[in-house]
This record gives sequence, structure tokens and C-alpha cells, in this order.
Amino acid sequence: MEKTAEIIIIGGGIIGASIAYHLAQKGAKGVVLLEKGRLGEGSTGKCVGGIRAQFSTAINIRFSLESLKTWDNFEDLTGVDVGFRKAGYLFLATTQEEWKIFQENVLLQQSFHIPVELLSPPEIHHRWPYLKVDDLQGGSYSPQDGFAGPYEAMSGFIRKARKGGVKIYEGTAVQQVLKEGGKVKGVRTSSGEISGPVVVNASGPYAEEVARMAGIEVPVKPYRRQVFFTTPFPWIADPIPLVIDFHRGWYFRREGKGLLLSGPKDHFASFNVDVDYEAMVRVVENALYRVPLLEKAEINRGWAGSYEISPDHHAILGESSLKGFFLANGFSGHGFQHSPAVGQVMAELILDETPSIEISSLALDRFVEGQLIHEPLTAFQE
Ligand SMILES: Cc1cc2nc3c(=O)[nH]c(=O)nc-3n(C[C@H](O)[C@H](O)[C@H](O)COP(=O)(O)OP(=O)(O)OC[C@H]3O[C@@H](n4cnc5c(N)ncnc54)[C@H](O)[C@@H]3O)c2cc1C
Repeated sequence: MEKTAEIIIIGGGIIGASIAYHLAQKGAKGVVLLEKGRLGEGSTGKCVGGIRAQFSTAINIRFSLESLKTWDNFEDLTGVDVGFRKAGYLFLATTQEEWKIFQENVLLQQSFHIPVELLSPPEIHHRWPYLKVDDLQGGSYSPQDGFAGPYEAMSGFIRKARKGGVKIYEGTAVQQVLKEGGKVKGVRTSSGEISGPVVVNASGPYAEEVARMAGIEVPVKPYRRQVFFTTPFPWIADPIPLVIDFHRGWYFRREGKGLLLSGPKDHFASFNVDVDYEAMVRVVENALYRVPLLEKAEINRGWAGSYEISPDHHAILGESSLKGFFLANGFSGHGFQHSPAVGQVMAELILDETPSIEISSLALDRFVEGQLIHEPLTAFQE
């Protein structure tokens, strides 16, 4: 491994990969990416690939729309097909309060020219007759949303980053961030030291732990999220949108010939990624309530991964108070879909260019200064 580098990226998930890719595209030299285990073994490998522009804050919508440019052209850009399927996202509102927020969100989204529409319960029933609608206030639907393969996307970014000269080391854990006189000086790893003036924290759910190595407090906590998969389910015809029952915190979508059913997100932070029976029971309750036809479904597997949650469910991006130590953390369940724009903006910042999205609202300082971003629908993230 080299003894010096210009830019050291900690973390080989979709975020580290996208930053590496964008730096390489811009011709940056001396870029090294360090991954403690295998590339994609963290949240990225557990992600279910949802991509949407239906967000309730302008900053998240901007990241979605910028990222969409890459998702729409991913194969041309990287040579890897991520299987982006625009099956649409359908959000369902049960209470009056939820419905009011949906209406406000749709106005915001339409101001960005997102093709989203509000639907009444009869309209929802007409389009998707398998959904129970008698308790609903309405829904919002955008055909532009969908899902793609996170592992494939990460591989595409890595492939092009390598071609652009980025050196990638797996099985290399960063153990210490070296600093001197308020500036970053490099890292100590399980395979030796690398010195360099720029270090990027892209360590997903480990963001807090890695930041502490640099003496910086980053309030990002890991929360387990479980998902389950059924055997082939031919009783509902395609296309099936990704349906989010907002009130119950449950969603489902097509996955291959079967279905993907979301499980619960834990209410307490931990690195536990076991799948448990209680979660499966809750999934079945939610599924049968909203889609009675799912009584014919058979669950055959499930997995769990960590969401990397920040206090206001928005990313933390930018340079920290330690000069040269950059943060790309806290994506709160949507780091995959925003990874193209995050990589682009981080590369611009690191190379001292003006970022293509104004990101001052995502600075770490906001937690100290009490400038948290208000998101009306925080109860459920995907
Ligand atoms: C079940 C589930 C479903 C999800 N669904 C969606 C979805 O539909 N859409 C969406 O946009 N997002 C979704 N997400 C969230 C998404 O997976 C994450 O936001 C995204 O993967 C974060 O990427 P990352 O690169 O920051 O983190 P990771 O993929 O976790 O990568 C960080 C890497 O850093 C490495 N690392 C940590 N510490 C060190 C160290 N000291 N030294 C070296 N390496 C280190 C880790 O091993 C890891 O590989 C989902 C997450 C889960 C768990």
C-alpha cells in the first residue's frame, strides 16, 4: 500500500464508491479508498434500491433530481446495467393530518416539475384493485420513481474509479485519523500509515466512530431495518408500484417473480443485523391489512441492515472543523438513491469547486446551532 495519497476515502459502500468515481472523472490523482471488510458489505449490500423524487424537503428533491440524471444513463456512464425499473411509488395517507402533509408535499414536488399526482381512494382502487382503500384519505403517485440494484451500482462506480487510477484496498480498517495543527495528516490503518491532506469519512453506519478518530462528533446512529421476500407471487399483475402505507410504516414492491415486503425499523440504535420472528409477524399483519390477497403469499427469506440516521433525517455533508476532514454521512435510509449527486458534490468540494447543489444547510454545524432541517414526514423513511 502507498505511504502517501492526495485524497483518502474511508468506506467502500455506495457513497465512497461514488465519491471515488466522481474524483476520477474529474482527473484527480492520488486517490485511495480503504474498506475494512469487502466492498459493499455494509448498508449498501442490504439496501433494496428504492429511487424516488417524492421527498418533502427541497434539498432532498434536489439530490434526487440531480441523481436521476446518472440513474437514467448509468450503463452508458459506467458500463454496468443497474436494472433501473420505473415502477412508480404510491404513498398512502390514512389520517387527515397525513393527507394535509401529502397535499403540501405534492405542491412542493410539482414546483420541481416532478410528475406526481394526488389520487382519491376510488382512483387508487380503480388503478390497483388489490389495495384496501376504505380507510384512506388518498395517495400520491409518481411514475418516475422506481428501484435499481445497489450492488451493481456500487460495482459500476468502482469499475470506473479503478480505471481512472483510484487505488482500492479491501480488508484495510482505518484505526486512527492523524492530524497536526488543526489539519488532517493522514490515517493509520490495519496495514500501516498513509499520509495525505484530505480524508473523507464515508463509513455509513460507522460515521460516528470514524469521526471520533478525528476528534469530531458526528451524531449518526445505526438502526436495524428488516426486509422479507416471498416465493413467486403471480396473483397480482405487473406493473406493481412500490406502495408505501405511510401510517403503518410498511411498503411492498415486486422483486423478481415474488414480492419484497418491508419489515420494521428498530426504535433504538444498535449494530444488530439479525432477522427476527417478531418482525415477520408484524410484516404479515401489515401485509394482510393493506393487501388481503397476500394471504396467498409465502415468505421464504429475509435480511436486515443498518440505517445510518442523523437527528433530522438529512445527510451531513462538507468539510468539518478539522481542515481536510470531509464528511459524507447520515443519509438516513436514502444514501443509495442520492449517491450519484452526493459523490458529485463531494468531489467538487474536495477539489475546491463550487458544488452543483447548494449544501450549506447540510453542514455538521446545524446541530450545534439548532438549525435542524424540518421534514414533515419523518415517521417513515425509505
Ligand atoms: C434494509 C435496508 C434498505 C434500504 N433501502 C434503501 C432504499 O430503498 N433506497 C435508498 O436510497 N437507501 C436505502 N437504504 C439505505 C442505504 O443502504 C444507505 O443509505 C447507503 O447504503 C449508505 O451507503 P454508505 O456507503 O454510506 O454506507 P455503507 O454501505 O455501510 O458503506 C460504509 C463502509 O464503510 C466501511 N467502514 C466502516 N468503518 C470503517 C473503517 N474504520 N475503516 C475502513 N472502512 C470502514 C464499512 O465496512 C462499509 O462497507 C437501505 C438500507 C437498509 C439497511
